[in-house]
Amino acid sequence: MTTRITHWIDGRESAGTSGRTAPVFNPATGEQTGEVDLATAAEVDAAVAKARAAAREWRASSLSRRSAVLFAFRELLHQRTDELAAIITAEHGKVLSDAAGEIARGLENVEFAAGVPQLLKGGFSEQAATGVDVYNIRQPLGVVAGITPFNFPAMVPLWMCANAIACGNAFILKPSEKDPSASLFLAQLWKEAGLPDGVFTVLQGDKEAVDAILEHPGIAAVSFVGSTPIAKYIYETGTAHGKRVQALGGAKNHALVLPDADVDMAADAVVSAAYGAAGERCMALSVAVAVGDVADPLVDAIAVRLPKLTIGDGAAAGTDMGPLISREHRDRVAGYIGAGERAGATVVVDGREATVPQDGFFLGTTLLDHVTPEMTVYTDEIFGPVLGVVRVDTYEQGVDLINANQYANGTAIFTRDGGAARQFQFDVEVGMVGINVPIPVPVAYYSFGGWKDSLFGDTHMYGPEGINFYTRGKVVTSRWPDPATSSVDLGFPRTR
Ligand code: NAD
Repeated sequence: MTTRITHWIDGRESAGTSGRTAPVFNPATGEQTGEVDLATAAEVDAAVAKARAAAREWRASSLSRRSAVLFAFRELLHQRTDELAAIITAEHGKVLSDAAGEIARGLENVEFAAGVPQLLKGGFSEQAATGVDVYNIRQPLGVVAGITPFNFPAMVPLWMCANAIACGNAFILKPSEKDPSASLFLAQLWKEAGLPDGVFTVLQGDKEAVDAILEHPGIAAVSFVGSTPIAKYIYETGTAHGKRVQALGGAKNHALVLPDADVDMAADAVVSAAYGAAGERCMALSVAVAVGDVADPLVDAIAVRLPKLTIGDGAAAGTDMGPLISREHRDRVAGYIGAGERAGATVVVDGREATVPQDGFFLGTTLLDHVTPEMTVYTDEIFGPVLGVVRVDTYEQGVDLINANQYANGTAIFTRDGGAARQFQFDVEVGMVGINVPIPVPVAYYSFGGWKDSLFGDTHMYGPEGINFYTRGKVVTSRWPDPATSSVDLGFPRTR
């Protein structure tokens, strides 16, 4: 028995009419559990028409009403976290506590957006010229879309939709077709929270739906999170069609471990950030750069921790790490381990040999030492439970390595030297930096974004930059003169 996973249009589930579907699996069992509709361009067009009508009314709603809806949505999300976490685990595979963690971080974006009356306050300049006042306002764009990856089926949509909706837009979500059910749960909660029908839409689909979104003249802006090649494509195609686009791409996040670091603390942090969610996080640490003589003790400390991790069904109590998203992805990741070995890396812990459940898309944890920058295990985003250790002699060599990488999403330094950490923060060409913090995902009142091939566009996601992205500024210059003083003056208006 498989579940049909539909679209959500105009406030209700809406079965697709394309006849095209994609299978959805439980990665822990390998069984197909669902079948998701894939939208056509015509279905996208019909949904956009509903969203446009809803956007016109929603932008006229008061800020306090929008805030009240966001508060109600926040409460529902909080109360029903366990249900949503179970949905995420059943389709993504991550352990339940991790799924609850992504919801908790997404919830913070809702809390931020609930402050929309404060966030949309503009500036006001009285007497900019004699009797003239100037002020600015921020207005919604209309219909905006979000295209999201499989690895955070709740948090990444919440990064986008909370701010977009708070700002008075209608939001269309195109979730990953690999784990699409969380999107419908969010849609149901928005409805229960009192959001008018049509303001939040879910269009399930693949490239066909994405292309229709990118080309649709009724959609003003697109937020994307996913892999770098697709992010680049989304940015180029969306902007070519006149849209505002922010497209976050892939990552290769380095941990720089200095010789003075507390080795056990660094190993705990690196193991947590490399293997949590089976490495399927855009902020996962996938490279440890060991400086000087810290390398041997660090590799040993990581290696002793790995056999202690319990790998299994993410829904089972006591599991530390679940499966990968699909059989193909698991095999691809395993292929990288072989490629690293053939290229000369030392396989300290081999995930291919781990004892893991036979059903499902499992792979054990892998630790590769003596990785060098030309190996594919270093150059490519693997997106699995594989950590490579690159040994360097000096801090400068470590920073140069990080700065030469095409990706620049997150990085972390482990040291007890505040001056070195301060220097690293200054030197490193990466968008998000952790100082003894392995996964420096910014809190909701800052903004999230990498540099270089980890982000296409100018605006980072959520937080203050998210508010800017989902609004456009308008500046009003006003005066209320006595008509008796009025005259024709062809000169350019002066302020003094
Ligand atoms: P993906 O790029 O394969 O898919 C992302 C979205 O794009 C999905 O909705 C998918 O349906 C759509 N898509 C896929 N192929 C397409 C195509 N050819 N044309 C148009 N649309 C297409 O990414 P994924 O595998 O779902 O997610 C993992 C990737 O996302 C990793 O690279 C990871 O680093 C990245 N990611 C980045 C961040 C970040 O904040 N920078 C956050 C999470 C994930």
